[in-house]
Amino acid sequence: MTALVIKNLMKTYANGNVALQGVDLVVEAGDFHALLGPNGAGKTTAIGIVTSLVNKSGGDVEVFGHNIDTDLEAAKSCIGLVPQEINLNLWDSVQNIVLNQAGYYGLPRRLAQQRTEKYLQAMRLWDRRKQAARSLSGGMKRRLMIARALVHEPKLLILDEPTAGVDIEIRRSMWDYLREINAAGTTIILTTHNLEEAESLCRHVAIIDEGAIIEDAPMKTVLRKLQREVFVLSLEEPITVAPTLDGFETKLLDSLELEVAKGPAHNLNELFAQLARCNIRVLSLRNKANRLEELFLRLVENKDANPQGTAAP
Ligand code: ADP
Repeated sequence: MTALVIKNLMKTYANGNVALQGVDLVVEAGDFHALLGPNGAGKTTAIGIVTSLVNKSGGDVEVFGHNIDTDLEAAKSCIGLVPQEINLNLWDSVQNIVLNQAGYYGLPRRLAQQRTEKYLQAMRLWDRRKQAARSLSGGMKRRLMIARALVHEPKLLILDEPTAGVDIEIRRSMWDYLREINAAGTTIILTTHNLEEAESLCRHVAIIDEGAIIEDAPMKTVLRKLQREVFVLSLEEPITVAPTLDGFETKLLDSLELEVAKGPAHNLNELFAQLARCNIRVLSLRNKANRLEELFLRLVENKDANPQGTAAP
């Protein structure tokens, strides 16, 4: 069963902005799919079309087999959307916002109340249910939008930059919760430019740039394509010249920080053995670039170098 099929999706806005130029995307039921891309790539437009907030200029969209042109209400009932912009009625209470959404989807009152409690509890907002939404912090408003999106228990949850402006600690607990509902069967599509978020959560990734998909593959495949990793080592003692190491590129960032790039043929044990031979002791190490970030830059470079062809691996 497919959760979402997008075929040759086009969008040109009234002012002539071309936002989508033939997007194709298939998301299987149960998947956790990332839609990545820089600002202006067309992510929000694509989601807007799938959720019928934006009219398409061409192409087809099916949600769990329901075509949005012929079967819009059925398609809509399958989707829960957490938009990028805070679009809550800020004067309404937290509880009412979720209850009203349940009413909008036709849930009987009792069930609506049960679900409202369930999802406000899950989003750690139940204690604040009587407060007006305007009194919530930015992160709480975002969690309220998630509770609101879940109240009709959609089969497909779409989140547009869900953790933008959310504290690290809350972000982690949101990630845990999203993993949990995905494991329980909800298909999730997430747009983000937080690549760490995509890497941590998603099993598939589609990368969109200038209104077209330039990569669409399982996350593992995408990560495996990345050959070169860059580490920054903190050194115990200062050094003045970067050591020459066999199989590794080195660059001294400052006297106590050494950048090392390694290819797939070499491992970190070899690196440390060589450093020990040079009497360089390492206190700690971190990955410099997020690997997806690197991939993304490479795909865009390849596309620019070869505009007619598809992105090279
Ligand atoms: P993303 O979500 O990836 O940042 P968007 O879908 O918001 O990208 O935007 C894609 C392109 O469409 C951009 O060039 C943007 O300026 C344009 N765009 C988005 N919304 C509108 C609109 N309402 N009117 C005109 N152009 C728009």
